[in-house]
Amino acid sequence: MRIAVLPEEVVAQIAAGEVVERPASVVKELLENALDAQARQVRISIEGDGRQRIVVADDGSGIHTDEVETAFMRHATSKLRALDDLSRLHTLGFRGEALASIAAVSRVTLATRHIDEQAGTRMLIEGGHLRDRKSIGAPSGTVLTIENLFYNTPARLKFLKTENTEKRQIAAVITRYAMAYPSVRFILEQDGREIFRTHGSGFLGDVITAALGLEHGKQMIEVDNGESERIRVYGYTSAPSLNRADRSRITLFVNGRWIVDNSLTYAVIQAYHTLLMTGRYPVAVLMIEIPPEEIDVNVHPTKAEVRFRNGDAVFSAIQKAVRRAVIEQAQTPGIFAGRFSAPGEPSRAWADRYEAAQLDLSLDLADPGQHARKQHQDVAYDENDPTAVPYGPGAPAKPRTLPLLRVIGQVAASYIVAEGPAGLYLVDQHAAHERILYEQFMDEHEQQGMIAQFALAAQTLHLSPDEARLLEDNLTALQAFGFDVEPFGQNTFVVRSVPAMLADREPAAVISGILEDLYQGNKPGQARIEDKIVLRVCKQAAVKAGQILSLEQMQGLIRQLERCDSPLTCPHGRPTMIHMSSEQLEREFGRAGA
Ligand code: ADP
Ligand code: MG
Repeated sequence: MRIAVLPEEVVAQIAAGEVVERPASVVKELLENALDAQARQVRISIEGDGRQRIVVADDGSGIHTDEVETAFMRHATSKLRALDDLSRLHTLGFRGEALASIAAVSRVTLATRHIDEQAGTRMLIEGGHLRDRKSIGAPSGTVLTIENLFYNTPARLKFLKTENTEKRQIAAVITRYAMAYPSVRFILEQDGREIFRTHGSGFLGDVITAALGLEHGKQMIEVDNGESERIRVYGYTSAPSLNRADRSRITLFVNGRWIVDNSLTYAVIQAYHTLLMTGRYPVAVLMIEIPPEEIDVNVHPTKAEVRFRNGDAVFSAIQKAVRRAVIEQAQTPGIFAGRFSAPGEPSRAWADRYEAAQLDLSLDLADPGQHARKQHQDVAYDENDPTAVPYGPGAPAKPRTLPLLRVIGQVAASYIVAEGPAGLYLVDQHAAHERILYEQFMDEHEQQGMIAQFALAAQTLHLSPDEARLLEDNLTALQAFGFDVEPFGQNTFVVRSVPAMLADREPAAVISGILEDLYQGNKPGQARIEDKIVLRVCKQAAVKAGQILSLEQMQGLIRQLERCDSPLTCPHGRPTMIHMSSEQLEREFGRAGA
């Protein structure tokens, strides 16, 4: 091919690719524009996954009649005149690219009226070409309607995820901005249904509750290092009891701009050092305020990256502020208190270890709630406790897969020590119980197609909008496994029953655990939805590490494990036991051949 300058249209489509990657990026750009226009209210309506239609309506300043066309030109902005202005920037936008980019890959209708003008304008642009324009009467503000997104860029369409993923991304973008702008009222409607609303009260705490759901909102701790700090850090971070399997719930804003920054995210994680198990991450929403001249926001077209003049100082400010808030909270009596009563006079070291195990136990749960606490206080076992290990009458006499084992005792409230003909066995009580429950559950499911249910006094569940969508999408799958959950108003559900083996677990914690697993489900090669539900149910129902078991309970557990089809691994594939053969023992003690 000979060299040729690309036609304007192709240039525009290529450039658009950098700014609008997916429907959620369109929403983000339009939200930023509304916020820059000093809107007090922004209403976002989505159809399908947003490719069909996105409407963003604000009550901001509006656009002057004689500027509506300019607004759609590339590099046209009212927010910046010279490069130098970047160091004083107080707006989210400045590149003048969003409207041009969006218009290049969709059909855009703009309706706007500037506050200082009598009449407004309505304009239609398709694939970047002006199709229609007329004068209209309208309240001051701007309504942008984006339809047929990516209709002329088939390659981009192919890269979009499933409809549900895109919907969730959109909800996530909106909740994020709602948290950064608590004094602005945000309303999100999907397919004509309102799924999220903030009240613009100005209190971040109110928005946190709307955004994370009441359940999680309650577990958030306020962070604030003080208004006078040069690098101010404020917002909310989770008590260690609320944690996640990935870092995606750590949200950071710098001067009101949502940013993605691995290093600063790590500062938040670091603040939980020794408070969270490895592989668990906090939930946080933090606002960082820093003089504009200390940062460079012009790093990437999506403006989601920021460079700091002194990154280390920002890192340490975040880490300190979060750490202090979490530690202070943890020291308040009541949060971890009342869980540990040492039998007799144990040595200090033992007590420390034991306490650590107790702490781990609470950290292991996505949401320990009242129930876990209660369950822990009366460590002594209840015969009717369905999680008590002894096998039920229904347990079929399956062939033995392990030799007969004699239980000797428990180590660290987590491992069962047993002896068999071939030596010593150290059994991980949680992993082993997970395996047992998993096989029982699958048998039950195969034989009856239905799972024994436990009816609850109806419990309500308040979720974040994106979690609510995820739950809605999976209600049928959950039903097949004994969960009876019904939508009950905006982002609220009623739980009427759960699988019988979860009878004494906190339903909110169980469902939140399942949602967490499903949330991560969009990566290829991940387990099927059904598998995830079963695995999570068994994990939640199994005895925890750190739970003291009676000899009978241990014996019951081992008896059942001996007849599992695959007794050597838990359903996640981790080992349930370590075996030390008699020969190995002899070798270790130097008795071999003696
Ligand atoms: P930028 O936000 O970087 O300036 P955009 O392409 O997003 O670039 O918008 C171009 C211009 O259009 C903005 O600078 C602003 O003047 C105007 N504009 C866009 N959206 C709105 C809105 N919702 N209300 C008022 N003005 C808007
Ligand atoms: Mg903009």
